[in-house]
Amino acid sequence: MFYSYLWLREDGSPYYAGKGKEDRAFKKNKHRQYPPPKDRIVIYPAKSEVDAFETEVALIWYYGRKDLGLGCLRNLTDGGEGASGYKHTEASRRKMEASQKGRKHTGSTRRKISEANTGKPKSEKHRKTIAAMHVGNTYCVGRKYSIETLEKLRKAVLGKEPRRPATNLVGRTFGLLTVLNRAPKGADKEGRPRWLCLCACDAVKSILSKSLLRNNGTRSCGSYACRKK
Ligand SMILES: [Zn+2]
Repeated sequence: MFYSYLWLREDGSPYYAGKGKEDRAFKKNKHRQYPPPKDRIVIYPAKSEVDAFETEVALIWYYGRKDLGLGCLRNLTDGGEGASGYKHTEASRRKMEASQKGRKHTGSTRRKISEANTGKPKSEKHRKTIAAMHVGNTYCVGRKYSIETLEKLRKAVLGKEPRRPATNLVGRTFGLLTVLNRAPKGADKEGRPRWLCLCACDAVKSILSKSLLRNNGTRSCGSYACRKK
């Protein structure tokens, strides 16, 4: 079975999108990046290999490549069939990126975009702004996928969200933890709600609703010192 996948940082923001089958999403193998622990891998099951490629392209387009100043992903290609990053030498890669860069945005726009993207987990509004920015610009010229297709794919990707609205835990305290904010959608591969919690030691952890709400549930960041408090 083919699928697309996202690898998430500890804060829930994605750092790599890919397409694969079998255990590809869970192994270092040919990846340039190291996979995160299993609970930070999001799988998007696909009906076919083409379907998986399309979702991969949509994910990369949506979250944006860091090397192009467009988002938070460390992917070095736009994804899709034949886009495997390992075929190009470092030099040709740089050349391709340079030519791509020159065509897209002016220096100040690029800087603005990159600054806008620096605060890792994007808010819904922020995401919409970025998505809107992409519509109608020349970033997708020459691609196999039209803006309409990408919009459709993006909706499909965004549609894969928790079924039930989560109980809002923002501001509540659980032992040493104070809930700061909802962790980005997709931070949990089952789509279960997670919350960014500030521990008394200033560590920020993303923790499942269910672990917080449980009697004898998670009450600290989990470090040895905090667990003993
Ligand atoms: Zn702590």
